[in-house]
Amino acid sequence: DRVPVRRALLSVSDKTGLVELAAALAAMDVALVSTGGTRRALADAGLAVTDISEVTGFPEIMDGRVKTLHPKVHGGLLAVRNDPDHQAAMTEHGIEGFDLVVVNLYPFEEVVASGGDEATTIENIDIGGPAMVRASAKNHGHVAIVTDPDDYDMVLGHLSDGKGTTDLATRRRLAVKAFKRTASYDAAVSRWMETAFDAEPFDALDALGGRRVATMRYGENPHQAAALYLTGETRPGAATARVLQGKPLSYNNINDTDAAFELVSEFGAETPAAAIIKHANPCGVARAGTLIDAYRAAFDCDRTSAFGGIVAFNRELDAETARAVLEIFTEVVIAPAISDGAREAFAGKPNLRLLQTGGLADPRAPGFVVRPVAGGYLKQGRDAAVVGDMALRVVTKRAPDTREMNDLKFAFQVAKHVKSNAIVYARDGATVGIGAGQMSRVDSSRIAARKAVDAAEALGLAEPKTKGSVVASDAFFPFADGLLAAVEAGATAVIQPGGSMRDDQVIEAADAHGIAMVFTGTRHFRH
Ligand code: 5GP
Repeated sequence: DRVPVRRALLSVSDKTGLVELAAALAAMDVALVSTGGTRRALADAGLAVTDISEVTGFPEIMDGRVKTLHPKVHGGLLAVRNDPDHQAAMTEHGIEGFDLVVVNLYPFEEVVASGGDEATTIENIDIGGPAMVRASAKNHGHVAIVTDPDDYDMVLGHLSDGKGTTDLATRRRLAVKAFKRTASYDAAVSRWMETAFDAEPFDALDALGGRRVATMRYGENPHQAAALYLTGETRPGAATARVLQGKPLSYNNINDTDAAFELVSEFGAETPAAAIIKHANPCGVARAGTLIDAYRAAFDCDRTSAFGGIVAFNRELDAETARAVLEIFTEVVIAPAISDGAREAFAGKPNLRLLQTGGLADPRAPGFVVRPVAGGYLKQGRDAAVVGDMALRVVTKRAPDTREMNDLKFAFQVAKHVKSNAIVYARDGATVGIGAGQMSRVDSSRIAARKAVDAAEALGLAEPKTKGSVVASDAFFPFADGLLAAVEAGATAVIQPGGSMRDDQVIEAADAHGIAMVFTGTRHFRH
């Protein structure tokens, strides 16, 4: 997979490091071909270089708009060297291959940033450069494409290590970078045009790439425009599901339904599971022997909040469970599959949105999450950490029993999908109190316990289900107070990442109350 570098094409606007690179290439007997300004810079430095016009037999015309857009150039970039037909075409038309291409583009972004007028800005839209970059990147099997002066040393290093050759892994990496560069370049052009031409401002949302597949009536609030874009990732979920019936999905519907389906997917398909979501947080989650039992247990966690919620299931939705869901007003139901009986049951509620995903989302699959910030966006890997893979460590004198351990893992799985600070009480495979989105962990603890008391009242129980429950915290308890709040609520076991400066005090408090505590070593912040 090594390609000897015998001939290089250099055409750069940013001439940083150019002469040093070209001199090093010349010293390795690489023949150099360049466009006007680049050629002059090299010739001034005393290097032997062929003008591109000699290669094409055609002058640079139209103020440089057409310099390299020629079959003698693009044939040399795109030819598959070991393809007999391509070889024949090269011979027939006198095309020579390029093994290394160094191109950086007209400084379009800089011209925009410095407030260039429209004519200047348009003249700085590079056409031939991106064409060469894309051609070379496509043909990375035979061509190394360098688009960034920062990479010159790396490439020279590879050439000298590899006796004047490039290896496939490096060419692939360079090709990825090249396409990212042309994509961001074109994005900058379209962004500028949008503003300059006062085009529909809406497409600005597409800065991340992706294809618009739906325009919503509005966003989170009625005064915000909104649309759904798909990136091509095939992950099952709200955005990619088949809508079997119902009103068009709103922005909030999709956001909440996505959260709901990611949550039930966390459990896999083994045990039936149900989750009810409001404002992207679960208000009840449960696993049980049957889907309807899971739904009812999830519902019992917080019947008040469940009204107008989003319900997600991790397996085919049956008619009986569908009828249970229909007992209260529900916005959206999502499941990997919907049985015919369930579809019939929902037919009487034509506004309810019914979504079928075809499968579960893999909680371990890589992927990314983006969040806009003023002037840009943050990008991070998806939280693909799964409790089943974590090295759980019992840190207290008492170890959890089997029932507690199952509930601890379940509660931690749920906590991953609750906005921080997250506190989740669980008992017998169901959440019994959830505290979400508070600025202090102890407040989340208190709210979760308080909600459990309310639920007990609503269910006519003598005492809240937090008695004898377990509790999960998405991040460590910084003080013993959060743990003590859980003890007060009646929890007997705790799961949390650990890692606080005051872990000792928290462990001591747990031991003093006979609490079993497990550290996961992994936290699940979610903001
Ligand atoms: P030079 O300074 O060598 O004259 O020009 C180098 C710049 O020209 C590079 O930024 C390269 O991307 C760009 N370029 C190369 N070929 C063409 C072409 O055919 N048309 C246009 N518009 N730009 C080109």
